[in-house]
Amino acid sequence: MINAILAFSIGVLTAVGAIYLLCILPYCAFKPRRDMGCLAAGKPRAPGWEALSRQLRSDRPECECCGLPTTVIHHVLPFHVHPSLELDRTNLIALCNECHFRIGHGGSFRAWLPDCRRLAATIRAAILARSE
Ligand SMILES: [Zn+2]
Ligand SMILES: [Zn+2]
Repeated sequence: MINAILAFSIGVLTAVGAIYLLCILPYCAFKPRRDMGCLAAGKPRAPGWEALSRQLRSDRPECECCGLPTTVIHHVLPFHVHPSLELDRTNLIALCNECHFRIGHGGSFRAWLPDCRRLAATIRAAILARSE
């Protein structure tokens, strides 16, 4: 009898665990892509992109818009539209996640703001000159 109860409990726990994993896995798989931006998700990257991105993140540790730690190197003009600009430093800007979404992409990862560098500089200057 005790064995039957044990077997039943283990069965229920396994089922609950499996359902939990099934629910959480798609979220884990989706989240890193969202952070990268939908435009870049799944697209093949130039050899050298990872190294350049890592170097720029260490050269520009502060978000060029708000000053928080840099988490993303964003393409001002998306590389899937302008492949020749993928590794062009003049096309890259260091941003935090929030500014990447709002200033880099205008609130939609399917869009981009070609003017984001000027917007980021304006906001940065305003923050540095803020009154307290
Ligand atoms: Zn920022
Ligand atoms: Zn971006």
